[in-house]
Amino acid sequence: MLSVIIPVYNEEKQIANTIQQVKNTISALDQDIEIIVIDDGSKDKTWDELKKLAANNKEVIASRFSRNFGKEAALMAGLSMAKGDACITMDADLQHPPQLIPKMVSLWKEGFDVVEAVKNDRGKEKSSNRLFASLFYKILHRLSGYNLQNASDFKLLDKKVVDQISQMPEKETFYRGLSAWVGYKRTQVYFNVPERKTGKSRWSTLKLFRLAIGAFTSFSSIPLQFVTFIGILFLIGSVILGIQTLIMKLKGWAIGGFTTVILLLLIIGSCLMISLGMIGIYIARIYNEVKSRPRYIISEQTTYHSQQNQRS
Ligand code: UDP
Ligand code: MG
Repeated sequence: MLSVIIPVYNEEKQIANTIQQVKNTISALDQDIEIIVIDDGSKDKTWDELKKLAANNKEVIASRFSRNFGKEAALMAGLSMAKGDACITMDADLQHPPQLIPKMVSLWKEGFDVVEAVKNDRGKEKSSNRLFASLFYKILHRLSGYNLQNASDFKLLDKKVVDQISQMPEKETFYRGLSAWVGYKRTQVYFNVPERKTGKSRWSTLKLFRLAIGAFTSFSSIPLQFVTFIGILFLIGSVILGIQTLIMKLKGWAIGGFTTVILLLLIIGSCLMISLGMIGIYIARIYNEVKSRPRYIISEQTTYHSQQNQRS
């Protein structure tokens, strides 16, 4: 059996169409499927739409988060519910073309455990977003050693990989990173990102920024070592400056020197702030993990059978 996992947030106009397309493509493959849809606390009528879809489609299993916990949490929820021998994760907006699924499945049958769909280009996107994404992946590559440039959340994972990922106790996840970190036999397929079918991207700049910080901190502790590194640099600088100041003093050349003082104060001050901030981010993460609150709360669930039982 194949599990298709779709996180949705405010997709009332799109979700029915997406599910239909996924069903159509997979029915040609002669495979059992379940379509796990996680409503990430949508504020529109997505949940009503999902209830209707579940009532009419045996494959659809819909769960609803008690609030918006974010796409990462929704993906993790989907993975932990999936019963299939392989799971496919994809977006609800058809920017991850379902037409690619047959190819991914056939690669899986050839023996690959992870099939990643990689973007040929990033589609129509604001140039600022494109720039930040490319910068983000470059830094992440340097820090963590994983090159995720143009990676997407459109992936097929074998059951054993899914089990490994859903057993991980960490709360703040970065799915793209985790699925690279686990290893296994992997391959890639390429796709062009079509335009979003309805509405705008559900990711705000703030959400993207949080995801980026989360990704850095979960795959690298090098930023913490920057602090030491900058400290050492400044130590060397201050020894040189110290000697120079002493010589000036001894030779009687010493003048005001306010500029140096002010500059030093500013530079050291900002370095201290940045360093403390970095440490703060990691401590906040540790704190979040230690609290061990659940990653998400599921408030409602609906399937074809549950709705049948309610009726009878
Ligand atoms: N999504 C979600 N929770 C959120 C934001 C987005 O589950 O808080 C879902 C959304 O419904 C879609 C997928 O994540 O299925 C990707 O979102 P979107 O297409 O808005 O992002 P983009 O394509 O711009 O990366
Ligand atoms: Mg999208």
